Amino acid sequence: MNENPLRHLPAVNEVLLALRQRTPLAELAGDWAATLAREEIDALRHRLRAGGSANGHAHLNDLASRVASRLEASHRPRLVPVINATGILLHTNLGRAPLAPAAATAAERAGGGYLNLEMDLETGQRSSRQAAVAELLRRLLGAPAATVVNNNAAATVIALRALAQGREVLVSRGELVEIGGSFRIPEIMAVSGATLKEVGTTNITRLQDFEAAISDRTAALLRVHASNYKIVGHTAAPSLQDMVTLGKARGLLVIDDVGSGALVDFSTWGLTDEPMPRESLRVGADLVLFSGDKLLGGPQAGILAGRPDLIQRIESDPLMRAFRIDKMTLAALEATLRLYLDPGTLSTQLPLLAMITATMEELRQRGSRLLAVLSSTGMNLMLRESRAFVGGGSLPGQDLPSVALVLIPTEASAASLARRLRLGQPAVVARIEKEEIHFDLRSLLPGQELDLTEALRGLAASPS
Ligand SMILES: *Cc1c(COP(=O)(O)O)cnc(C)c1O
Repeated sequence: MNENPLRHLPAVNEVLLALRQRTPLAELAGDWAATLAREEIDALRHRLRAGGSANGHAHLNDLASRVASRLEASHRPRLVPVINATGILLHTNLGRAPLAPAAATAAERAGGGYLNLEMDLETGQRSSRQAAVAELLRRLLGAPAATVVNNNAAATVIALRALAQGREVLVSRGELVEIGGSFRIPEIMAVSGATLKEVGTTNITRLQDFEAAISDRTAALLRVHASNYKIVGHTAAPSLQDMVTLGKARGLLVIDDVGSGALVDFSTWGLTDEPMPRESLRVGADLVLFSGDKLLGGPQAGILAGRPDLIQRIESDPLMRAFRIDKMTLAALEATLRLYLDPGTLSTQLPLLAMITATMEELRQRGSRLLAVLSSTGMNLMLRESRAFVGGGSLPGQDLPSVALVLIPTEASAASLARRLRLGQPAVVARIEKEEIHFDLRSLLPGQELDLTEALRGLAASPS
């Protein structure tokens, strides 16, 4: 009969003893080291039960070095700067919009000390934290009132709850969208306590569909920008103008979730169909909602603008406390909005806009500089035309011409090189296409060329 391999499992204390020989962190980590040791022993037990073989000493060494490397990893920062070479400018997994230097500084100062977050320095009295951005938003959006919460999902929930709880909200079936995996209009609606009433069909919704669905329980008509997809072919949706006319005639609110919040007209740069919150309000929407970290180019935030009585009802909702914006975010948002006061310098100050407006000529020059600097590495590199995307749930199906530095691997696979680039210092996230690694040059931030060359040199120096 085979011996039971589980009998050879080391005890936690044995692993800890071996661990102390390997790293001084074992002492420092105390109970945490024991927790990690126990987890690794348990994992080994599972492997053995599944049919692995046993060899006491090898396992002990093996366990101790796994625990040591986990301990060492846990003493390094998990969140690290990443060079975004994906060509997706608003990459949700990489933190969406990079802040302008002025906004990053404002956040750092707000976080590193005290600030007049909720105090009027003139009177010494308590004030509202939203006051820091409310006036700027009113000015930039032409809005009678505005407020801010911690993201657009929260803005949607609080608006529906404060204005339509227990009543019906009409939404076109073509706009029951899911954004980023966890924001789904039907679920958001359910959380808010408003009842979703779907109207029309996936491709065709007419104003009469809204009209026919109105009952005495209806509170609002909601328009949701189909941020991350496009329905093409035989389609129809009522204009916001028509929805506003209907809403006014029947005493219903019109709420416009525009998603991305373009404060400038992106059609100047060939990006069309992006709704502008200012335009929604001009047309007569009662309330408009959008994110701070998409086309606005600021920190994660949800902005609500429109009728003062509605903004006031929203601000008095108990959820306002749960959704309130953090001081560092607020400071970054204020600084970002201030950049919009001077449209002439905006594209040099706001990284997102700088990336969108970079010309092909600039990108080619950037590419040539990189090629020249890296020529001595002997890597198989070339420049190619490519396509970049705004991403982050805006401008679906629209891309920007771009230039990519392409690395054609000679020995290792593209996937293993890409992994080493992600784990390198600085970390680089690139795109793999047909066993090639593409570094899109439009999503690089100013000053990152040097970092990218360093990362590639590192790869060339230890090719396997
Ligand atoms: C992105 C988006 C949201 C969610 O915004 P977050 O700020 O990510 O919470 C909601 N509605 C629309 C239309 C969007 O595009």
